[in-house]
Amino acid sequence: MGVALVWFRDDLRLDDHPALRAALDRGLVPVPVYIHAPDEEGAWAPGAASDAWRRRSLAALAEALAQRGSRLLMLHGPSLGTLQALAALTGAEAVLWNRRYEPHIEARDTRIKRQLRQAGLHAESFNGSLLFEPWEIETKQGDPYRVFTPFWKNALAQWRLRPLWEASARLPSPDQAGAPDGRHLDAIVPETRPDWDAGFWDEATPGEAGARARLQAFLAHGLEGYAQARDRMAVDGTSRLSAHLHFGEVSVQRVAAAVLAAEVPAPDRERFLAELGWREFAHHVMHHYPHVVDQDLDPRMADFRWARPLRTTLDAWERGRTGVPIIDAGMRQLWQTGWMHNRVRMIVASWVTKHLRLHWRHGARWFWDTLVDADLANNTQGWQWAAGTGADAAPYFRVFNPVSQAMKFDPQGEYIARWLPELAALPLPARFAPWEHPDLLRRLAPRYPRQPQVDLAQGRAAALEAFAALRAGR
Ligand code: FAD
Repeated sequence: MGVALVWFRDDLRLDDHPALRAALDRGLVPVPVYIHAPDEEGAWAPGAASDAWRRRSLAALAEALAQRGSRLLMLHGPSLGTLQALAALTGAEAVLWNRRYEPHIEARDTRIKRQLRQAGLHAESFNGSLLFEPWEIETKQGDPYRVFTPFWKNALAQWRLRPLWEASARLPSPDQAGAPDGRHLDAIVPETRPDWDAGFWDEATPGEAGARARLQAFLAHGLEGYAQARDRMAVDGTSRLSAHLHFGEVSVQRVAAAVLAAEVPAPDRERFLAELGWREFAHHVMHHYPHVVDQDLDPRMADFRWARPLRTTLDAWERGRTGVPIIDAGMRQLWQTGWMHNRVRMIVASWVTKHLRLHWRHGARWFWDTLVDADLANNTQGWQWAAGTGADAAPYFRVFNPVSQAMKFDPQGEYIARWLPELAALPLPARFAPWEHPDLLRRLAPRYPRQPQVDLAQGRAAALEAFAALRAGR
């Protein structure tokens, strides 16, 4: 029987896996391989939280393959050379993988595909992580979209769910192909300082089984009412599928199919699918405008007067010591769990880019290192949206007020009390803006900052003034 290398990357599952399916459909013995090549990840190499998740996800994939009679080969080295050497060793005739879309990875994979083909191998890539390829949706003029709503309308009009594929209970063993032993997981993603990420795993289980369980729980308890609950920070009102989707532990096609089939009110279904749509849009924009991962999409913002980043200012934000409770609560949730509620992500990002007037890159970097769902397309889009520099951006002059946002979306102050226990004794409304209640603050939360790091009104005014200066060419 012929042999195919199936190169796993951010598609750490067996279900609905187009590259694995292609190998089996062609009657080839799949040799599943994961290659650790950190030097090829460029400036946005995975951060610490992402690596912690990946480590567990790889272990889960290795286990799932072993249960089916197969085996995950984990290797270390340059991707192309490792694939060529493995192909030579196993006599593989094909190398198959699901695509990644980070600009430098896309470029690398194109080179790899060309060189494998030149070496006489069949090299082919598939869409394993998006509903649409980034180049499939275009305007009537054949251009990429820069605004979400028409993008998603067009995408929905073209949408046909494709049949889903399930891997069989037994897979051919790569031993048949003489595949060598791989490296131990510790050599691929080393375990870091013990227990720094312990709080991540209370509510999240990396790997395909964890992703499936999360999806089932969301379908049973979260989808109905999603449109309302998704903005309530204290409520478990969203799917928490983001890291599972980033690592490809569940096929987005399967998620979408399950949501479409669910008997819930249409607004809940549509709202959830639109969030998947934002994910698609982020990949569409990153593919067509690859500079966005480091630079503003909107060139008019190039001369904006960002403030000089002071380490002390950023430290206070990163550690949840800004003195603004909703921001500090969000930053603590991020540090302790590796995840932050979307509404709070918007508030903390607005604080950085508007009140502190720091370039979005500073915040995006911290998110990159601390989010388990860190995703170059989604993170870039989220930060550029908040900063008003990206596609479909809220104009720069729309500045979130963190106090009114907290009062609206955490009306009982439960989210603040949960992540900032030092403020739990403060009654409402002091919990939203403690600096306005100095006596209560001194008595009930003596260790919390007395004042916000920037006065809310002054920070807002300075941001608006800088924007006015940009527009006036001053
Ligand atoms: P749900 O509400 O259940 O949404 C379902 C899925 O849709 C998510 O899992 C995610 O894949 C996708 N999705 C939801 N909202 C968005 C969005 N605004 N943009 C793109 N996709 C979305 N998301 C990431 O996956 N990785 C990131 O690195 C990331 N960084 C962000 C940074 C900022 C500043 C902001 C404002 C948002 C960021 N997001 C990011 C988007 C969003 O906050 C998360 O996807 C969401 O909070 C994940 O929780 P969930 O899975 O429960 O979402």
